[in-house]
Amino acid sequence: DVHDTNYFYTDNSKIKSIVKSRHKFSHKGNFGHALLIAGSYGKMGAAVLASRACLKSGVGLLTSHIPHWGYQIMQNSVPEAMTSIDRSEMFFTEFPALKSYNAIGIGPGLDTKKNSATAFEELLNKVSDQKMVIDADGLNILSQNKFLLVKLPKLSILTPHPKEFERLVGKSKNEMHRLELLQDFCKHYNVITVLKGAHTVVALPDGNCYFNSSGNPGMATAGSGDTLTGIILALLAQGYSEKDAALTGVYIHGLAGDHALLTESEESLIASDIISNIGSAFK
Ligand code: AMP
Ligand code: MG
Repeated sequence: DVHDTNYFYTDNSKIKSIVKSRHKFSHKGNFGHALLIAGSYGKMGAAVLASRACLKSGVGLLTSHIPHWGYQIMQNSVPEAMTSIDRSEMFFTEFPALKSYNAIGIGPGLDTKKNSATAFEELLNKVSDQKMVIDADGLNILSQNKFLLVKLPKLSILTPHPKEFERLVGKSKNEMHRLELLQDFCKHYNVITVLKGAHTVVALPDGNCYFNSSGNPGMATAGSGDTLTGIILALLAQGYSEKDAALTGVYIHGLAGDHALLTESEESLIASDIISNIGSAFK
């Protein structure tokens, strides 16, 4: 079979075996410096949510690259984040020097304007050994400019919801066919794809698929995915392997959503509640 695959189920004991504990004498330099490229006019909330989730997931330092217009919003909402200000008022057109960053996250609340696509291409040309997570409009830029897919650093983590995935690879006939498209896509571009849903699948270039066991329908809410991007970015910056960051990020995100239901209902759960429960999930 061309799809010679193993299917796995990510459970609590698997994630416990991955998550590292901190040494007594560790300092923030030990936990990496993440760069998040996010936000545009009217969508700064996505950048704020991803930044907060990143900081709550153990990153040492975070710099959020945002359009000029979003400066006050970011500084007021996430005082822990440093900012890198784009010369554009509203959109993503440039990015800071990359050498100080261990991992890069791009996409939440971005836009798909030509300037952003050009800046994204330039970014992909400059990335050297940084690990990457790509979400939302970062993925939509890839869908609109498919030639960029071959420029992705190996084992980049892509986090599409089903609609974004369809834009990337096309329509599937049924669930099994979609799984095959997913595996082919990961093999072909040597990337990790996190296909989000009730049982999020993490697919690796070797064809293996890991089904997540945490999470609930309360998480089907605005900004939920942006918090996942922040969590995965933090794990990458801390030195987790791409595979471990994807599996752990997805599981912790779902578990934080489950813990939120101790005090929230599925109706009332919002993305900020996921962030508030990241600590409890890691514990
Ligand atoms: P996004 O559409 O980018 O905001 O991402 C939605 C996030 O919520 C993903 O991480 C999904 O896995 C999660 N999610 C959405 N619906 C459900 C559901 N019914 N059960 C569990 N998780 C869900
Ligand atoms: Mg999303």
